[in-house]
Amino acid sequence: MVPVYVVLLGPPGVGKGTQAEALSNDLGLPHVSSGDIFRTNLQNQTELGKKAQAFMNRGELVPDDLTIAMIQDRLEQPDASKGAILDGFPRTPAQALALEKILDEWGGKILAVPYISAPPNVLIERISGRWTCRAEGHVYHAIYNPPKKPGKCDIDGSELYQREDEKPETVTRRIQVYMEQTTPLIAFYRQRNLLAEIDGTLPIEQVTEQLLKVVKKD
Ligand code: ADP
Ligand code: AMP
Repeated sequence: MVPVYVVLLGPPGVGKGTQAEALSNDLGLPHVSSGDIFRTNLQNQTELGKKAQAFMNRGELVPDDLTIAMIQDRLEQPDASKGAILDGFPRTPAQALALEKILDEWGGKILAVPYISAPPNVLIERISGRWTCRAEGHVYHAIYNPPKKPGKCDIDGSELYQREDEKPETVTRRIQVYMEQTTPLIAFYRQRNLLAEIDGTLPIEQVTEQLLKVVKKD
């Protein structure tokens, strides 16, 4: 069996992390979030975390070389031997090309690239209500997906917090960075016949249904 990957593409706050968890549970592949790995490195003040910190706090992208090396290392872990659900990577054409090269070497295959979209007002509302779990980055929303016990993760009981980069001015910058640096990937994957457009404004369960149809098409 060749390892298989799903690449979730879309702006910050559209629901990639939320949907990656659902796909991960359904398909039995690990959820690999570049943002979560950076945040863990930041919390633990590793060398990588220290290098990434200033970029993350400004809402900018961490340089490609650091990001690519980090993801390659993660995808080489035994739990990802059958593939992974990629959330937040790739985010630039250089990262997409690097992923292609890595998967060519391994004989890995991208099953689909769901492109989840929603207008900026929806993204801002979602990000401003987001609560993230300290232990594993599970995400909740104050209105749309509240935890059963306020302030605690349903899955692992850890504390929920609001991210450093959720300040309104940083959110605006992140959306702008996405428009400038990540939207070229829409054409990149469309050209490779992998892109599937998904309406991200729908409720969480309906987005999951659309995604499962796309990913399980064959
Ligand atoms: P991303 O990983 O793309 O930044 P998240 O998965 O963290 O996005 O979702 C951002 C916020 O929006 C979270 O608070 C999440 O609970 C909420 N959310 C995700 N998908 C939906 C949806 N379809 N409808 C309403 N809220 C959603
Ligand atoms: P996210 O959790 O996906 O919203 O990412 C949070 C932050 O981590 C981003 O604003 C970037 O600073 C950094 N980051 C995450 N993924 C990448 C990536 N693929 N390339 C560069 N920077 C990234």
